[in-house]
Parts: sequence; C-alpha cells; structure tokens
Amino acid sequence: METINIRGVRFCNVTLDEAAAWVADTLAAPAKCPRTVFTPNSEIVQLCIEAPEHYALINSADLIIPDGIGVIKASRILGTPLKEKVAGIELGERTLALAAEQGYSVYFLGAKPGVAEQAAAKMKEKYPTLTVAGTHDGYFKKEGNENESVLSAIRAAAPDVLYVCLGVPAQEKWIAANREALAGVKLCLALGGSLDVWAGNVKRAPKLFIKLGLEWFYRLCKEPRRIGRMMKLPKFLFGTYAAKWRGGEA
Ligand code: UDP
Repeated sequence: METINIRGVRFCNVTLDEAAAWVADTLAAPAKCPRTVFTPNSEIVQLCIEAPEHYALINSADLIIPDGIGVIKASRILGTPLKEKVAGIELGERTLALAAEQGYSVYFLGAKPGVAEQAAAKMKEKYPTLTVAGTHDGYFKKEGNENESVLSAIRAAAPDVLYVCLGVPAQEKWIAANREALAGVKLCLALGGSLDVWAGNVKRAPKLFIKLGLEWFYRLCKEPRRIGRMMKLPKFLFGTYAAKWRGGEA
C-alpha cells in the first residue's frame, strides 16, 4: 500500500472504500495477533512534532488513515496529496456493517460506564445481524491486575474486531502494549470518541460542515473546552508551510 509521509507520520494513501477493502481482507485472513488501525488527525501529528517519542507509537499501526482535514491540507501544501480524508468513525461503521453481513463478532472497549452497552444496543438496532461479543468501559487501570482482567474478558469473548475508544494517545499506547496478549483478535481499531456518537450522546457535525471541511469548527462550538487542543491545528499548518520552505522535513 502506498504511504505518504506527512511531517513524520506515515499515512496510507487510501480512500474510505480502499480502507474498507483492507479491513475485509484482514478479517478474511488468519492472524497470529491483531492488525491495527490508527486514525490520526493534525492534532496528533502536532503532538508527535512536539514530543517526538510518539512517532514510533503512531507509526506502528498497519493502517494509518488521515482522520482530519488539516492532514489533507498539509499533504497538498507539501505537494504529496493524500486522496481524501478517511474518518475513523466512518471506517468503524463500515466495519460494523461488514461484520454484521459476514458474521464477524465485535467488542467495544472504552468510554464512560454504560456508553459501550448503549452503543452496542443502538448498533444492533441498525445492523440486526451484528454480534457484539462484549463491552467494557474505558475507565480501568491500564496496567496490573485490572488490565489483566480486561484482557481476560476480551479473550473469553473472542471477538474478531476490537474497538478501542480510550482517547488519544492512551488508546494507541494500550493497543501497542497489549497486542500480543490479544492473540485471536484479528483487528484492533483505535477510534476515540466513536462510542459516544454511536450511543447517541454526542452528535457528529451536519453533512454540510463535513463537506466544507468544517467539522472541527462544529465540534469546537459544541465543546468549547477543546480550544486548547484545537490550537494545535493552526500551529500544525503554519509549521507545515515552514517545513515546505525548508524543503519538506518535519
Ligand atoms: N476515555 C476512556 N478512558 C479514559 C479517558 C477517556 O474511555 O481513561 C474515553 C472518553 O470517555 C471518550 C473517549 O475516550 O469516550 C475520547 O473521546 P474524544 O472525543 O476526546 O476522542 P479523541 O479526540 O481523544 O480521539
């Protein structure tokens, strides 16, 4: 698969359809330990730039999709355009539809207590043949006995797909640390706040905002406390112009 380096993060140059086809191939093949999908936006790339120890973690995924208009803009500024924004939540839902159709089971890990169950109920309503093998909230100690008991619960449920929704970069760290302990699972998706959306607690932006590349603005209006995190976006774009003038390095 073609990858394009955007400020040090190795994005796969795929459309949503191509990413969904990769997921279908992954689920159809035998696997020793799960393959992984990370969905960084410009905030995460900026995090890597400011704290470079995160590069190895973010680049460790098998499929890295550009989940943000800022990354797409940066790819154009740098003269190596990515095909399109691929929203993690949309790939996550395509995977649910495929699982329902082909009989793969899924497990939802993350969000506040009760949310994963609510998301499972809503998604089973939408995809009646979907098998949700289990759910667990995301507020547990990510090491020691508590972590072991979460891993045991997941192994006992034996899902094909594990949705890990613990926020960035906790979810990526958790997946990297526990990948081998999850033998039997075929795919781990790091999907941030997706369970909150599927549970119906958080709304995605209206389609027009998404089309105009203004989903970030809608989110900011709904959740003004995100302003600090979102200031990473202009910083990232200014830095990208500077990198372009310097000759492309991060
Ligand atoms: N979360 C969690 N465990 C934690 C901290 C956060 O499960 O210890 C959940 C939180 O409830 C929310 C998700 O992680 O459902 C992060 O959502 P956000 O929209 O902030 O996603 P991000 O932008 O970080 O991907």
